[in-house]
Amino acid sequence: MVDLKQNVQYVKGVGPAKAKLLHNIGVDTLDDLITYFPRNYEDRSKPKMISQLVDGEEALIEVVATGNVSEIRIGKNKTILKLVVRDETSTCIITWFNQSYLKGRFKIGQKYKFYGKAQIKYGKVEMVNPVFDIEENNKNTGKIVPIYPLTYNLKQGAIRNAIENGLKIVDGKLEETMPDYLLKEYHLEELNRAMKQIHFPDSFEEYNRARKRLVFEELLSMQLALSGLKNKYDNENDGIEYSKDVKMSDVINSLPFKLTKAQLRVLEEIDNDMENRKPMNRLLQGDVGSGKTIVSIISTYKAVKCGYQVAIMAPTAILAEQHIQEFKKVLEPFGIKCELLLGGTRVKKRREILEELENGTIDVLIGTHALLVEDVIFKNLGLVVTDEQHRFGVRQRGSIVAKGNNPDVLVMTATPIPRTLALILYGDLDISIIDELPPNRKKIETYAVTSAMEERVNNFIRKNINEGRQVYIVCPLVEENEDIDAKSVVELEEKYRNEVFKEYRVGYIYGKMKQKEKDEIMHNFKEGEIDVLISTTVIEVGVNVPNASLMVIENAERFGLAQLHQLRGRVGRGEYQSYCILKYEGKSSETRQRMKIMQETNDGFIIAEKDLELRGSGEFFGTKQHGLPEFKIANLFEDMETLKSVQSVALKIENDDPKLEKEENRKLKKLIDERFTKRVEI
Ligand code: ADP
Ligand code: MG
Repeated sequence: MVDLKQNVQYVKGVGPAKAKLLHNIGVDTLDDLITYFPRNYEDRSKPKMISQLVDGEEALIEVVATGNVSEIRIGKNKTILKLVVRDETSTCIITWFNQSYLKGRFKIGQKYKFYGKAQIKYGKVEMVNPVFDIEENNKNTGKIVPIYPLTYNLKQGAIRNAIENGLKIVDGKLEETMPDYLLKEYHLEELNRAMKQIHFPDSFEEYNRARKRLVFEELLSMQLALSGLKNKYDNENDGIEYSKDVKMSDVINSLPFKLTKAQLRVLEEIDNDMENRKPMNRLLQGDVGSGKTIVSIISTYKAVKCGYQVAIMAPTAILAEQHIQEFKKVLEPFGIKCELLLGGTRVKKRREILEELENGTIDVLIGTHALLVEDVIFKNLGLVVTDEQHRFGVRQRGSIVAKGNNPDVLVMTATPIPRTLALILYGDLDISIIDELPPNRKKIETYAVTSAMEERVNNFIRKNINEGRQVYIVCPLVEENEDIDAKSVVELEEKYRNEVFKEYRVGYIYGKMKQKEKDEIMHNFKEGEIDVLISTTVIEVGVNVPNASLMVIENAERFGLAQLHQLRGRVGRGEYQSYCILKYEGKSSETRQRMKIMQETNDGFIIAEKDLELRGSGEFFGTKQHGLPEFKIANLFEDMETLKSVQSVALKIENDDPKLEKEENRKLKKLIDERFTKRVEI
């Protein structure tokens, strides 16, 4: 067997200097090296005729030199080499800058292969600094060449070379990690061949086979590691056993509305978990407005009445402030003390809160990341609720949980996640779903329009305001460049405030504003002092303004469907019929199809499935992908089919052999013990 953990510097052609560079990209061992997978490939295997070349295209040509290399000196140390070559169809000029040493390599009448980018000017074809082979050699051409994601001073050639040599060491000696029965059932490539073909594929068919196998392995080990974690929680019996004498129904009966069946079912699941000695680890999923918050309030009641404290973590200050109002409204009548702790909480107030938290005067602490700070110490933390929306990673969840002694954990998310994805994103949690909205919710009427309808849309906005309602106008947020986006909000505000809606009160808000400013604006909007609020997606998360009845979304084509649905959930929170207008640009049929889905359905789960189906790539969660596990090769979106296969395998194993003790699963156990469990546990 080869030692995969051996230091990469002893691989031929690496050495101490390159090993340092490899370290920068996370490659320290032979194992790291051979699992540093290409991000792309260049097909240098299929020759083209010169006359068929397209400007800007990378291509391979097979040619004969029609002259000798000519050298032109320009300036002191600068040279240009030129060589004219031809095939049956045309001629091409090969040009090299500052590579004089190549001068002697070319002879009239000799055959060559060149691979490079074709430039066509005035009908003349040229290739600059191409790679080449002489005669039939296949050193640089004639094959599919991997392109690696690289950084710093590592050159493609260097890393390619290192990997080639690394593969020579392991060639044929990698121990198969997949059991035979899976290799057969899913037609998976054997490991050694897959590893070779993923780096240096003989054909794209071979590449596909190799990739499928490696993706399968990666997803399966992740999925099994997660269910292993779940088993581990299940076997730990040192959580809190909440008293059966404290009844959730006491607080449920005090509410001004009746809970939905789905809410009651979910509460029963939570109640069972709480009364059980093993710590609860539960994901609560539910569409916007499905009433998750009240579920967390009721669970909080139970924890507090059993003598424990509760921490509620929200992703933004606005949301935390909203939560505290709702919590107080329901829980204060029961003598439960709730407090709010934010990054901006005044020093004196903060000191007071910390003291009361530690001595147990405060029962419920609601806040943002501010709760994670070290000096926030609970007397007796028994329940942690994180309102997640993909903004907290597993790590942060862990650090708040560590402030208690195996507290119960409830994770809430309003992003409807198709089940397949939920299983791999939250595979270590039990899942509860609220799949029903409270009754009498009016459907949010949604219309998709083009810019031709602008005036009518503006009139509709006026009509809503004149009836006493409020309006959101949302523009896309380009996360990588919030400055530009902020400007677009500001520009819109200019136009709307000074021209279109000058008779109304127009405000704006965007992510990069100071927290204090944002809070002030949201406060004013809530109090009805702003008629039209222009914003980026900062309002996406949970803001509750029941008087807002209309949302206009600019450039709706730029948002993911799941995100549009989240945004739209900001209206229709009160008694008024509410509307969402999607202004879109472009004529692509995909855009129209997506707008149609938004018009026709109000079910977040269906929308999420469709979104995934239509886009199929990484934008499912908008640009916010925090919390997604990192994979070396798998892509949750493109590899959905494989993910489904993997999950049916995982489910079967979970039922038949949860601890991977059977002989047939021995290889899987080894794989997970060695490679995975450590990574997942952080
Ligand atoms: P979510 O957090 O799931 O987006 P919320 O908990 O904010 O939803 O609920 C939205 C609104 O609906 C809140 O004002 C809440 O008080 C109310 N609500 C929750 N459950 C019910 C119910 N069963 N019947 C009527 N109204 C409800
Ligand atoms: Mg809520």
